[in-house]
Amino acid sequence: MEKKQEMMQQRRESGSVAAHFPEVANIVMHMTYNQRGAKSILRTFNFTPGSYAFFVVNCLRQDCVDGGFDLTQVITTMIRNRKVDAKGTINCEGTDSSTNHSDIAYEVSIQYT
Ligand SMILES: [Zn+2]
Repeated sequence: MEKKQEMMQQRRESGSVAAHFPEVANIVMHMTYNQRGAKSILRTFNFTPGSYAFFVVNCLRQDCVDGGFDLTQVITTMIRNRKVDAKGTINCEGTDSSTNHSDIAYEVSIQYT
């Protein structure tokens, strides 16, 4: 719970997409979340200029500690190069009983103003 509150706090402090990236009209993140021993889950995140510029997605595993998927680097690099799409995979860096317990395959598309 504490961890979650900390993330909410970071999110509130991150500022809006418009403030950081005024040239961005829309960001869509599609990801397939794969957890060992569980069915893949498709997750979609949509960012508008009024959204918080916070691109960290939590890991869905209950006992995951300090995990999650940080797409900040991916997205800021894309915007700097005015790229419209990118895809890749990220492993959860969380530490718990099993390492490599989950990963995501992401696809990001960005529309510019
Ligand atoms: Zn995890």
